[in-house]
Amino acid sequence: MDQHEWRCCGCGKLLGVVRGGRMHLRFARGHEYFVGFPVAGTCRRCGALNECAAPMTNAPDGGGRR
Ligand SMILES: [Zn+2]
Repeated sequence: MDQHEWRCCGCGKLLGVVRGGRMHLRFARGHEYFVGFPVAGTCRRCGALNECAAPMTNAPDGGGRR
């Protein structure tokens, strides 16, 4: 699985998920957005401003297999 979570730096709430090089954001009532990087937004829970300049990579590129 290549899903990467984007979490609030303040409270740890899940803000979005990186899919296929874009950020997947989900809101109430089924609204969903795919946005490119860099992405910024405020947390719904604590109001902290979060920025994500590029998709997070948990694994080093060298090992790469999908
Ligand atoms: Zn927060």
